[in-house]
Amino acid sequence: MGPGGRYRRTDGAHARDERTTTETIPMTTVHDTESRTDRRTDHAVLFDMDGVILEGRGTDASVHRRALEDVLTDRELEVDGDLREPLETYEYDDGFRAACERLGVDAAEFFHAREKRSAKRSVSRLAAGTRRLCPDVDALEAIAEHAVVGLVSNNYDPTVEFVVDHFRLTEFGYVRGRDLGPNGFRRRKPDPHYLNEALDALDASEGLYVGDRATDVIAAERAGIDSAFVRRDHNASLDLGVEPTVEIGSLHDLIPLVSDR
Ligand SMILES: [Mg+2]
Repeated sequence: MGPGGRYRRTDGAHARDERTTTETIPMTTVHDTESRTDRRTDHAVLFDMDGVILEGRGTDASVHRRALEDVLTDRELEVDGDLREPLETYEYDDGFRAACERLGVDAAEFFHAREKRSAKRSVSRLAAGTRRLCPDVDALEAIAEHAVVGLVSNNYDPTVEFVVDHFRLTEFGYVRGRDLGPNGFRRRKPDPHYLNEALDALDASEGLYVGDRATDVIAAERAGIDSAFVRRDHNASLDLGVEPTVEIGSLHDLIPLVSDR
């Protein structure tokens, strides 16, 4: 499915217009005890993916290096070492654009093509079992009983989609990674773009964003929602520099927070 996020229901149905149809059916015909029809939908708990749901900080740098190689091979382009380096970074920055100019290619289009390859390669690595779920992800089930649960990540949308399917993360009612290319890059956190999109899509008036970095806390603040900073081994000594609404040591700590509301 394209940009705009995906709705998921435990019965496999998705898309919002189907929800309207469901609501017209008398309650007596709803047999699914997991049905969201009686669930509070004004409060959304949104999760960052890398370092919160999935172990590790994110996509390995070698992925972008090889992705660049893929694009160059596809286009039969020869590139020297000093020009190669700015083209294999994660950032769409001045260095990337300058290198594209020297290469005689359109920077935005070339960046999109490289990110498409990066996403493809990151999916292959995940399929090969390079990263695992965080052990406390089992808390999602209890959290989802009290709030609508979503996944909003700076990682590539195809990668995030793959993770949800691969690890069968059925609790997420909304899933969104960033779009490939310069626009997706610019809209990444701390920009609140994708968090706002999620809140709108879920009709949520209140929300909580769970992340493992300062940019997550800032993005939440900018979207006007609370933030939960999860401290794990990989960010144990991180001086956050911003004030989250709450700091937690495990996703299980969220259960009393959402059920006491
Ligand atoms: Mg993260």
